[in-house]
Amino acid sequence: RFITFEGGEGAGKTTQIKRLKSYLEDRGRKTVVTREPGGSPGAEKIREMLLSGAARDLGPRGEAMLFAAARADHVDHTILPALERGEWVLCDRFADSTRVYQGEAGVDPAYLDLLETAAVAGVRPDLTILIDVPPEIGLQRVNSRAAETASGGPDRFEADDLKVHERRRVLFLELARSHPQRFAVIDGRQDADKVTGDIRKAVEAHFAL
Ligand code: C5P
Ligand code: MG
Repeated sequence: RFITFEGGEGAGKTTQIKRLKSYLEDRGRKTVVTREPGGSPGAEKIREMLLSGAARDLGPRGEAMLFAAARADHVDHTILPALERGEWVLCDRFADSTRVYQGEAGVDPAYLDLLETAAVAGVRPDLTILIDVPPEIGLQRVNSRAAETASGGPDRFEADDLKVHERRRVLFLELARSHPQRFAVIDGRQDADKVTGDIRKAVEAHFAL
């Protein structure tokens, strides 16, 4: 079983993934938590390049290719092996993030489809949880998290302006609307426990547990 989590900055994906993992493990399901960009040693190196700005000289098409390269390695070395062992895989962002982030950056959707097909090698999520939150709220959470953990402030994508974050939110919601069987849209403005409950319901509705 392969479940991906999507949403803008500060949606609460990471917290909710941890909670779903304990819920599944309490029910005897071995569960692997992973994330993109990254999730395998090779892909984590690409993540560093992407987020630190080391890849800043790349245009949007080249950058999209780096995300795809990271994804291919992640699929081969982490996701597919876990699925083949019969484990559940919970992934913080996946191909939908590329459609949204690189799509918003102006990359041709047909080109993104080609990269996606090549990168995922047939591995597609059974369920995608979209945690939807208005960007003003999400970014506020990112900024207070940065202050609390002294983690050095927002990364280069989080630092984009509000209009960009708003367009990404619309693109995520459009993707969800065009794949209604795969997506569950969760209202991420609610308190964390309510979000956890809604995610459990979506998972229970999707899989026999
Ligand atoms: O989920 P997380 O915040 O760790 O993601 C790292 C960064 O990479 C984020 O700022 C996210 O917006 C960005 N990203 C992106 N394109 C993707 C996936 C993530 O720009 N396809
Ligand atoms: Mg982030």
